[in-house]
Amino acid sequence: MAELPSSADVVIVGGGMTGTSALYYLARSGVPATLLERDLLSSGSTSKAAGGFRAQFSDELNIKIMVEAIRRFERFDEEPGADIDLKQWGYLFLLKEDQLGSFEESVALQKDHGVDVRMVSPAEALDIVPGLNVEDVAGGTFSPTDGYATPAAAVQGYAMAARNLGATIVEDCEVHAIDVAASRVSGVVTSRGVVSTSKLICAGGIWTNDLLVPLGIELPVTPEQRFVFLSEPGDPLPHRLPLTVDYSTGFYFHREGNGLVIAGRETAMEDLAPAAVHRLPFLAETGVRPGWSGFYAVTPDHNAVLGRASEPEGLFYATGFSGHGFMQGPVVGEYLANLATDTEPIMDLSAFSADRFAAGNQRPELRVI
Ligand SMILES: Cc1cc2nc3c(=O)[nH]c(=O)nc-3n(C[C@H](O)[C@H](O)[C@H](O)COP(=O)(O)OP(=O)(O)OC[C@H]3O[C@@H](n4cnc5c(N)ncnc54)[C@H](O)[C@@H]3O)c2cc1C
Repeated sequence: MAELPSSADVVIVGGGMTGTSALYYLARSGVPATLLERDLLSSGSTSKAAGGFRAQFSDELNIKIMVEAIRRFERFDEEPGADIDLKQWGYLFLLKEDQLGSFEESVALQKDHGVDVRMVSPAEALDIVPGLNVEDVAGGTFSPTDGYATPAAAVQGYAMAARNLGATIVEDCEVHAIDVAASRVSGVVTSRGVVSTSKLICAGGIWTNDLLVPLGIELPVTPEQRFVFLSEPGDPLPHRLPLTVDYSTGFYFHREGNGLVIAGRETAMEDLAPAAVHRLPFLAETGVRPGWSGFYAVTPDHNAVLGRASEPEGLFYATGFSGHGFMQGPVVGEYLANLATDTEPIMDLSAFSADRFAAGNQRPELRVI
């Protein structure tokens, strides 16, 4: 177990996808930061995620983030150098008639950014996922370069590469408070002692506000518990299954081992069952057991809230990913590292700053699962 240092150039709170990615990109730029995690790496929302990644968003900024993030997932085995069990098997959205127009607009925008994506007919959707009931499906969208991976493996990949570059990770170390002196971050008080620092990245997931509220900052983030269920092995679907989303109901499924993860917005299987069995009739005969649950960090416009606090100086934050924080990690982590080191940002994500809510500049993301 790493010792808690008495000082660090940059401290990161939170060992999920966001925090470990920031740690890696800081280390890569020659700043070996210290990451503090109160439990184990990945123990927050990251290990509960489906691991889905997609460029199929409505907000142009999310599309840009994801074009770059997918490029990084594709070569994760080279940099940072870890096997994340990449399944680039696509995302298939199934749509009703009145949803087609809005998705056509998004597909046009995604194509403008070079995304391999297309509208599909119900028959084509059935070709991609035999076993679907498409009788009330008017069409869909499919991108073969979307897919899913294993979030905990990505976190370990970033963590190991960052450690090799000199970064420090201290687990079982809870940050209790942020110290401020003369309107600037001066350190953190932890369960293991005090670390002095002038730069702090808060990547504490749904718990980020616990540290910020005492400083007079409250990010508009609400925890929303999401449940997943597991079907018995031996289903008739192809092994290389796209992450398939019934957009009207929120029911989605993807391959997990030799069975399926099936999930939605419902908290109990009996509530999810009608939508699930309607779309995948064979599920009526298949055993399904509870899987796990975790929390989405949801903002009012379903976009991340990330940036630099106006006060105290030296404080940076990233949370509120509204169900897409794993996939945005490779870009958001580098962006946070850029902010903390005052270097040219990988891309301009200032529109996602918390200031947008007070300024009336919310930017609703429509493709939320
Ligand atoms: C069921 C489910 C499915 C999902 N599917 C997807 C998906 O397919 N694709 C996708 O992109 N996203 C998905 N998500 C969302 C994704 O899990 C999150 O957006 C992402 O993991 C957020 O990562 P994070 O690092 O910001 O937060 P977290 O992973 O929550 O990490 C925050 C960490 O901070 C630590 N921490 C908090 N406070 C303190 C403190 N005071 N001191 C020390 N440590 C502290 C916590 O212990 C935790 O480990 C899903 C979420 C759920 C629940």
